[in-house]
Amino acid sequence: MRTLLIYPVFPPTFWSYDKSLELVNRKVLLPPLGLITVAAILPQTWEFKLCDRNIRDVTEAEWDWAELVVFSAMIVQKEDLLSQIKEAKLRGKCVAVGGPYATSVPSEVEAAGADFLVLDEGEITLPLFVEALKRGENKGIIRTEEKPDVTTTPIPRYDLLELDAYDSMSVQFSRGCPFQCEFCDIIILYGRKPRTKTPAQLLRELDYLYDLGWRRGVFMVDDNFIGNKRNVKLLLKELKIWQAEHQYPFRFNTEASVDLAQDAELMELMVQSNFDAVFLGIETPDEESLKLTKKFQNTRDSLTETIDTLI
Ligand code: SF4
Repeated sequence: MRTLLIYPVFPPTFWSYDKSLELVNRKVLLPPLGLITVAAILPQTWEFKLCDRNIRDVTEAEWDWAELVVFSAMIVQKEDLLSQIKEAKLRGKCVAVGGPYATSVPSEVEAAGADFLVLDEGEITLPLFVEALKRGENKGIIRTEEKPDVTTTPIPRYDLLELDAYDSMSVQFSRGCPFQCEFCDIIILYGRKPRTKTPAQLLRELDYLYDLGWRRGVFMVDDNFIGNKRNVKLLLKELKIWQAEHQYPFRFNTEASVDLAQDAELMELMVQSNFDAVFLGIETPDEESLKLTKKFQNTRDSLTETIDTLI
């Protein structure tokens, strides 16, 4: 199956870092990790091409080549996603859509003309999609309430990316977060029990990036990297050795809850593994607001002391 993976455009916002990226001569901050993971889960006898529309438009040759067009997007990419689904359907392609936006709001994607909605986590729903195609089905909504074991997730197909266009690569160690902030969709999408890959599995992903020649930043995309502290420490103990053996080819950054400051061993292991930035979920210093939004983990210690400890 000739499969064209398309990543829709992010409109300019603070988070698209357009001006900063111009300074470092890169087009985009991060790659579409979801789509290259999808490419790794689908049958490897299929052929794949990937177009990140934040880098360039889909070429006529790519449209002509594709038998199946696969999209993944977040809500901020909605406008371009819906227009590209319509474009693919005008060209008579079979269209499958997954990712966080379609999983949260499937009706709009369906109304735009998508043939298949392959929702929730792809380790479970993509094989069901492949089975549906084998049975000759030409549309459907495929969902699951099960959360997959991510220790079986294959290495993402980083080889499909135009690596020079990106400022950082992305890897994922865990999905899910133990907390219950009421505004957060992560616990709805991935659950409150963090599921982690194995250290060896993550190091194989880094080996692959290293072999492809990557030597810059790597964003650990976990929404809360320290959701399972025990397993994160097991990873970091191996990662610091890997980094030293490879002469520190990667600078890591990630996102974490503020209780990171309570664990000196964890912070030290992150520094030794060459983490140079952590995005913290502070939200507000107002304790009443924190309680109202169920962000209780930020009320346990003084936020000022927490920041002082981390810096
Ligand atoms: S700590 Fe972060 S990832 Fe976890 S529930 Fe709160 S906002 Fe979501």
